Amino acid sequence: MPEKIEKSEEEWKQILSRDKFLVLRKKGTEPAFTGKYHNHKEKGTYLCGACGQELFSSDDKFDSGTGWPSFSKPISEDRVVRQEDNSYFMKRTEVLCSRCGSHLGHVFDDGPKPTGERFCMNSISLDFKKED
Ligand code: FE
Repeated sequence: MPEKIEKSEEEWKQILSRDKFLVLRKKGTEPAFTGKYHNHKEKGTYLCGACGQELFSSDDKFDSGTGWPSFSKPISEDRVVRQEDNSYFMKRTEVLCSRCGSHLGHVFDDGPKPTGERFCMNSISLDFKKED
């Protein structure tokens, strides 16, 4: 398990842009098709937008048509934490960064084989590192 990063919400507020803070720390959702990665096809690694932990590989990215960047799996299961989310009268599974606890998005069970999972992420919760 990666070493945890713990900061107060006040500290995060200083570090993150307002829009990033609202999604990563306040569990907001960016409007579909507005983020920078839903249609992004470069080879590389997607990082946590708050702490920089490597989360997803472009190899596992697929076009879900939802308007949010979607992945069939994280780089390894220990990079994320799954948590039950019953907000907005829905039963969903929230996905958090395992290192800093920031909100990334949700995971659904309608993804492609073999995992059958769709990690539906907010672009703004991610940063991208291009493969050299
Ligand atoms: Fe993080």
